[in-house]
This record gives sequence, C-alpha cells and structure tokens, in this order.
Amino acid sequence: MAALQGEDGLNYRERGAYLFLNPDGTVSLGPVKEGDPFVSGGVGSTGDLSYGGRDPAMIIGSVHTHSVGNFLPSTAPNGGGDRGHLHSMVATVSAAGGNGADVRIYIAAQTTPPADVDAYNAIHYYDADTIEGDIQANQPSIEVDPNGQACP
Ligand SMILES: [Zn+2]
Repeated sequence: MAALQGEDGLNYRERGAYLFLNPDGTVSLGPVKEGDPFVSGGVGSTGDLSYGGRDPAMIIGSVHTHSVGNFLPSTAPNGGGDRGHLHSMVATVSAAGGNGADVRIYIAAQTTPPADVDAYNAIHYYDADTIEGDIQANQPSIEVDPNGQACP
C-alpha cells in the first residue's frame, strides 16, 4: 500500500496517544495529541499525552509517529525524549497499580526502501528492557507485523 503524503500521512506532523487494555481484553486508543508539523530534519513533539479520563493503571503503552525513516526513540540530555517518556510511563503505570514493567512505546513511520521498492508505514516497539541496547546499537527494535504477516 502506498504511504499517504501530506497531512494525511505519517510524515507531516507527530501524533501520539496512549494505548489502554480494556477489561474485556480489547485495546483502545486514548485521545490523539497532535504536535506541530515536522521541522527540517524531521524533529517533532506532541508534548504530554492525555489519559482522556482513563485509569493510568490500564495503560499498556503509547504510540506516536516519526518523520520518514526515523524509527529510533529520541533521547534528550535532560532525560526527556522518547526514552524519558517510556521510563516515566513505566513509573506512572506501576504507581497506579498497573503492569508498568511491560509497557511499550510504539513508533510509526514510513520506511526508506531502495528506489525500486515502495515505501510503507511500519511500527517498531521498545520496552524498558530493550530501549537502551537499541539506542546504543543505533538499530530499530522489533517491527510489529512486518509485511502484513499475521501476529504469532
Ligand atoms: Zn518519538
């Protein structure tokens, strides 16, 4: 499937939301927060995400978009960025009585394939156990549902 361009695509602005596990086992998305359009170099931010009135103990992660080809979590000297967001979410969910150790951040972006291959929108995820190694290795983590294969 061709990746959408402009405001309808992933490569226009950062968007993010929490993921909640519902009592019936389904997953729902919290309110989607939109950041400013990506600036040169593809840097964006949504700022703090909203629980939308939901119980933070039910959070299983968050998902947000990056500009094209940027699947690695961002870092910041002050402990912010995506890495800071993950560790903050772990602490918040744990303090609320949820399963903080298992929360993940999911990063969605367009791929940057060779010229003769179509780009597509991919999602990679990170958790507290893997994020440091992935950042140090400069290597995106596990891709969710690669090539549209069914989940194991
Ligand atoms: Zn990010």
